[in-house]
Amino acid sequence: MLHALRETVSENPSPVVDWACHIPSMEEQIQETPITVAYGDGIGPEIMAATLNILVNAGAKFRPQVIEVGEKIYQRGFVSGISPDGWKSLRNTKVFLKAPVTTPPGGLKSVNLTIRKAFSLYANVRPCVTYAPHVRALSSEMNLVVIRENEEDLYAGIEHRQTDDVFQCLKLISRSGSERVIRYAFEFARANERRKVTCLTKDNIMKLTDGLFHRVFNEVSLGYPEIISEHLTVDHGIGKMISEPTRFDVIVAPNLYGDIASDLAAEVTGSIALVGSANIGHHGAMFEAVHGSAPVIAGTDTANPSGLLLAALMMLRHIGQYEVANRIHRAWLRTLEDGIHTADCYSKQHSAKKVGTKAFAAAVIQRLGSNPRHLVAVSPCIPVPQRQTPQSDVPLYEKEIVGVDVFVHWRGESPDSLARTLQEIDSNGFGLSMITNRGVKVWPNGLAESFCTDHWRCRFMVANGQATVSLEQINGLLSNLVSAGIDVIKIETLCIFDGEPGYSMGHGQ
Ligand code: NAD
Repeated sequence: MLHALRETVSENPSPVVDWACHIPSMEEQIQETPITVAYGDGIGPEIMAATLNILVNAGAKFRPQVIEVGEKIYQRGFVSGISPDGWKSLRNTKVFLKAPVTTPPGGLKSVNLTIRKAFSLYANVRPCVTYAPHVRALSSEMNLVVIRENEEDLYAGIEHRQTDDVFQCLKLISRSGSERVIRYAFEFARANERRKVTCLTKDNIMKLTDGLFHRVFNEVSLGYPEIISEHLTVDHGIGKMISEPTRFDVIVAPNLYGDIASDLAAEVTGSIALVGSANIGHHGAMFEAVHGSAPVIAGTDTANPSGLLLAALMMLRHIGQYEVANRIHRAWLRTLEDGIHTADCYSKQHSAKKVGTKAFAAAVIQRLGSNPRHLVAVSPCIPVPQRQTPQSDVPLYEKEIVGVDVFVHWRGESPDSLARTLQEIDSNGFGLSMITNRGVKVWPNGLAESFCTDHWRCRFMVANGQATVSLEQINGLLSNLVSAGIDVIKIETLCIFDGEPGYSMGHGQ
C-alpha cells in the first residue's frame, strides 16, 4: 500500500497511482487537486499510508506528488533536507501534506523550519479538542485553537557562542510579523464563530519584544469588536489551560510560547497524536501532525494516525473539499466513540479494542457515512490570508543614536575593576554609564552577592549632553577599546525612536 502510493516528481511527473482501495477514474482525476506529499521518517510512512487510505476511500479528490524529505535527503548532501525536485513540487502545488521528520544532528537545518520560513507560512493553527468520555483526557472539556507565530522569536535560529561561558540566541519580534499572525487569529475566530482571542506573552519581563506583540494585539483587536480579547502572561495562561481550559477559545502567541502551549494542550486531549496542524501563509500551506517521528515505535504498526488525519482534513477544507472532510471527521469521531483506539489512547475504562495503525484506518473507513452519537464534529474553517502586510505599512519613526552597549568577554571577577579599566581608556566622548552581567546591573552600585560570568554589557552614553552620536564616534570608541586589549564581542547601538528609548535598562537596584 505504502509503496503503491509513492511516486517521485522527478521520475514520474504524471503517474498513474495504484490506490489500494480506490482507483480514481480519468474523469475524477481531471478534477483532482495536485498536492505534495512526504512520508517522512520514523512512524511517518505508516501514518501517511493510513491517512491517504482513508482519504481515498472517502472520495477525496487529490493527486499526490510524493517527495522525499528528511534523513535520506540529508544523506544525499542536500542540507535543507529537501531536494531540488521537492522544492519544485512545493512551488507548483502550494499544498503540502507532510508526515513527521526526524530532526537532523547539529549543523543541518530542520525541514519543518526551512519550509515554514521559505514559504513564509507564518500562522501555525492547532485545534486541540478533548473527546471525553470516549478518550481518557486530562480535562473533560477542552476545545481551543492555538495559533502560533511561526517564523520569528527565538526560532529565527540566530545563535552565537560569545565567551568561554556564555551562548546567545536572538529573540526577534517584528511589528509586521506580529500583526499578520494576530490578524489571522482574529480572522480565524470570526470565520469559525469563536467568541474570544487570548494573547500570551511575557511582556512584564521582555518589555520591548513581547511588549510589541501585546501592543499590536491590542491595536488589532479594535477591528474585531464582536470578539472578546484578553491578554495573559504566558506562565499564568499555560497553568489556566490545565485548570480552566474552557476559558479559552482561540489563543495567539509568539513562536516559543505557542509551541509549548499547543503541545501542552495536545497532552490535555489525552494523546499528542490527537492533534493536527496547519501552517498557513500567502504563498502556500503545509499540513502535519504536531507530534514527531516517534522512532521508538516506528515499524511496529502501533502509531496513531489521527494527528496527521486531522491535519489532512484541514487540508481538504483548504482546497475546498468540505463535504468529504466532514464525512471523514464524522467517521473518525464515531470510531473513537466506539472505543476503537490505538495504544496511546487505550484504557480499559474508555476503550473497547486496542488496534494498530492499519486496523484503526480500516475502522474509520468502515464507518464512512456514519455519524457520531455524542461528539460534535467541529470542523475548523481555515481562512486563507488575502493580503500580505507590506513593509510600507510599518510606521516610520524618527531615529537617533544616543549611545552604545559594548559587550565584552572579560574574565576578571570584580565589576569595579572592569569599570576602572574601561575608564582609563580614551572613550572618544562617551562616558561609561552602566555595566550589567547577564542583564543584572553590577556597576555602579552593584551587589557583592550578584554572580558574574565572563560576559559583560558595558553601556556608553554621550558624556557632553549631545543627544545624537554618529557611527564614526562609536567606531573611535571601539578602536580605542580594542587597542587597549579589550575583547569586544559585539555592540548594540542605543537608539531612541520618536523620543522613546529602544533599549532595555539593567535589572537590579
Ligand atoms: P515525538 O512526538 O516523536 O514522540 C513523543 C512521544 O509521543 C513518544 O513517546 C512517542 O512514542 C509518542 N508518539 C508520538 N507520535 C505518536 C503517534 N502518532 N502515535 C503514538 N504515539 C506517538 O517526539 P520526540 O521523540 O521528541 O521526537 C522524535 C523526532 O521527531 C525528533 O527528531 C524530533 O526533533 C522530531 N520532531 C519532528 C516534528 C515534525 O516533523 N513536525 C515535530 C516534533 C518532533
